[in-house]
Amino acid sequence: MIRISLRTVAVAATAAAGVLSLTGTASASGTPARPVPTGHKALTRNPLYSAGAFETSRCTEPARRAGDLTTFRAYLDALFGCLRRTWSEEFHRAGLRFSPPRVRYITKGVYTGCTQYMASYLAGQYCPKNTTMWVLLDKEALSDPTGFDLFTVVTHEYGHYAQDRAGILAEFDRQSAKAGGKREADLNRRIELQAECFSGAFVGSVWRSLGRDRLDWDEQLKWVVGDRWHGTTRNIRYWLKRGWYGRGPQVCDTFSAPASRVA
Ligand SMILES: [Zn+2]
Repeated sequence: MIRISLRTVAVAATAAAGVLSLTGTASASGTPARPVPTGHKALTRNPLYSAGAFETSRCTEPARRAGDLTTFRAYLDALFGCLRRTWSEEFHRAGLRFSPPRVRYITKGVYTGCTQYMASYLAGQYCPKNTTMWVLLDKEALSDPTGFDLFTVVTHEYGHYAQDRAGILAEFDRQSAKAGGKREADLNRRIELQAECFSGAFVGSVWRSLGRDRLDWDEQLKWVVGDRWHGTTRNIRYWLKRGWYGRGPQVCDTFSAPASRVA
């Protein structure tokens, strides 16, 4: 339930937000970075799709203590470090520039720049307007020191951040603004299912190093509930698994997928 509500709001925010556009300049290593792709090819022929599987495969989860904000922050700091490493390598191989998002941990509802409040059903959100990842660490979130939900909420939202940096969100916004009805919902499902695939790919790539039981992943798949804006339950599971087994964004081109896969 947490995950689904979260996505609904995150998507509304994404669709409404103006997205930064980046220009191609020299990257840190001195190699000229490609300009961020624009137009329909940003969705269907994005350089991220040819960068191969994720390289880094190690990530650990620091122990958390129930009710202890400090340990939860350390847990998330570690996760954001893993995501930054994995995605910056991937962008580098794709020839695209990358820098990590801002991260804000909050303990109660605030205005994020994209939505008015983050209530307890809204565990996390990426807001493109301020390129910030917002994570809610309220009483309820702090009550579960072993769960895997927080991890996958963050990896999903980071998927939206990757879409933003790769020019995918900007083109999505442009096309969504002109679309209506069925086409708008179709585009929304494609952007959401891609974030699921990116999330599955990241989790799959670091899974062994996490030392978790396979059941933790199966649980994530089990609790998926689909809707018109996010895809059927079956398709959400399909893209999560496809990412998991593919270990990288090369298997996540939901924009070229047949309609049945993004229904
Ligand atoms: Zn989402």
